[in-house]
Amino acid sequence: MTDAASAVSSGGATAPSLVGLTRPELTAAVAALDVPERQRNMRVRQLWRWMYNRGASGFEEMSDLGKDLRGRLREGHSVARPAIATTQKSTDGTIKWLLRLADGNEIEMVYIPDQEHGALCMSSQVGCTLNCSFCHTGTMPLVRNLTAGEILGQFMLARDCLDDWPTDVSQRKISTIVMMGMGEPLLNYDNVAQALNIVMDGDGIALSRRGITLSTAGLVPAMERCGRELRVNLAVSLHAVTDEVRDVLVPLNRRYPIAELMRACRDYPSANNARRITFEYVMLQEVNDSLEDARELIRLLRDLPAKINLIPFNAWPGAPYECSSNNRIHRFAKLLNDAGYSAPIRTPRGRDIMAACGQLKSASEKIRAAAR
Ligand code: SAH
Repeated sequence: MTDAASAVSSGGATAPSLVGLTRPELTAAVAALDVPERQRNMRVRQLWRWMYNRGASGFEEMSDLGKDLRGRLREGHSVARPAIATTQKSTDGTIKWLLRLADGNEIEMVYIPDQEHGALCMSSQVGCTLNCSFCHTGTMPLVRNLTAGEILGQFMLARDCLDDWPTDVSQRKISTIVMMGMGEPLLNYDNVAQALNIVMDGDGIALSRRGITLSTAGLVPAMERCGRELRVNLAVSLHAVTDEVRDVLVPLNRRYPIAELMRACRDYPSANNARRITFEYVMLQEVNDSLEDARELIRLLRDLPAKINLIPFNAWPGAPYECSSNNRIHRFAKLLNDAGYSAPIRTPRGRDIMAACGQLKSASEKIRAAAR
């Protein structure tokens, strides 16, 4: 591991950020600065373009706003992103950032490069309430929802760090977003939706909904809303094929058992063959990886436009599970392939820096846990 850990402090307190505000909220903000009503739409349009087309990180460069308005904006506002606490670079190119929020809480964000483009894995909450027994994030005691600005701010910051502000979407390093970091995005639906709607806005960042995947542990009632309103790609953390096992791995299953979850998947509006639902399945030795499990998985997914992502379990200190053996993973995958399903075995990325799935957990939290 080439640990490029660089401790950067957030400096002093920053004024509240305009990043993440909706157009009506921005309009209200400029109105409060005494911008005359007939100018407000124009000012909002200008701000929007500076923030989301150019990636402006301060008001000074927003030349067409006028000196006077820039000054008034600076007094009570900023376009700040979350602060970087540390940066770690994996030998495979994956970059993990520990970010510090204005209230001192910390979250993680991961960039996973591919041949030409890459994916940004963003967090939706500080910690997570779901307590999935194999997930490290679930052991964090502290939980709060991220604001829309903190969610969108991750994306803005990653583009700053990667020098990735070309307007042309096809030339960007970050071409996809996966809501697969810390937290359950559907438990923070409104803020996630607000951030993603800004990301998809054609006058700004303009990332297509096809480039965005939201992963859920199966919050059934919110899945319907997500499909109807946001229409982004859906990934479902299935991980087990019987309620008995899934109740333990993903305790949310006790509220929304597998049959209900599968019904919600069938009803997911964007689910057709062009946009299949991804089912994530973590491979845990002798827990969920038998051939019988694979057969049941095929039965569950029958008639569903689905692909399966097999995730070798990423161990973390004190984890009560082991990763399935290569043999078991491959025979599981083969059965699915033979049944016509695409079931790639996900190569773990950034394992050396604990940036792989389920390993995200803030460093400070680790220190606190160690102290206990
Ligand atoms: N709460 C959402 C978003 C988190 S996504 C969800 O559950 O889908 C993170 C993905 O990594 C989920 O599929 C999660 O189940 C998986 N994961 C968690 N811990 C893991 C681990 N230790 N090894 C491999 N995958 C893990």
